Amino acid sequence: MDRANSVGILTGAGISAESGVPTFRGGGGTAIWKGMRFDQISSAEMVRRDLPAVWEWFDYRRGVLQECEPNPAHRAIANWQDRFESLTLVTQNIDGLHRGAGSRDVIEVHGNIHRSRCVSCSKMFQMDRACVPHDPDTCVCGSPVRPDVVLFGEMLPEGAYEKGAEAAASCDVFFTIGTSALVYPAAMLPEIAKRSGAFLVEVNPEETPLTSSCDLSLRGKAGELLPLL
Ligand SMILES: [Zn+2]
Repeated sequence: MDRANSVGILTGAGISAESGVPTFRGGGGTAIWKGMRFDQISSAEMVRRDLPAVWEWFDYRRGVLQECEPNPAHRAIANWQDRFESLTLVTQNIDGLHRGAGSRDVIEVHGNIHRSRCVSCSKMFQMDRACVPHDPDTCVCGSPVRPDVVLFGEMLPEGAYEKGAEAAASCDVFFTIGTSALVYPAAMLPEIAKRSGAFLVEVNPEETPLTSSCDLSLRGKAGELLPLL
């Protein structure tokens, strides 16, 4: 850490779980919302078929998030921005807690739940956290808006993964925090970092498929370990 000029970080659901954000994925069972599986209601097909139902689900989640604040792990990462020459933060989380803690230029590969986008002209709208249900409902062009979140069956936003991969290939230390490193392509980033000669550190309470490739595995809560680093 003392010698590193450039640091790359990938965070996943685990870091936000420490703020009380439900993961909707964990535990092996699939979450159900009004009789629909999580991967059904959060799908590209459902946006086409029943956008109001998709919004109902996302507004529910935005309501849950109003109770959640950034934790010491988010704040530690935000502080690291001024400690290293270069720091690239890639997150799989859509909750905006990294920004809330003060991180700038966060690469949100799965989008942001507090942002919406026009289904026709792709104009983006930043929503206030307190704004539940969502607003606006309609774009200036008259078309409906949808959550600016990557849904099942959709591609990642253009350039997001590439920026992360570039940082992973050129950093001195790469952290993977609170992620099982299973969701591709974000899961490729630690592999790229390792192959490019970075010191690879994992922070996770449990062993993951990535553990055997790591130079250092820190077992525990990110909110306790990162402030110590
Ligand atoms: Zn529009």
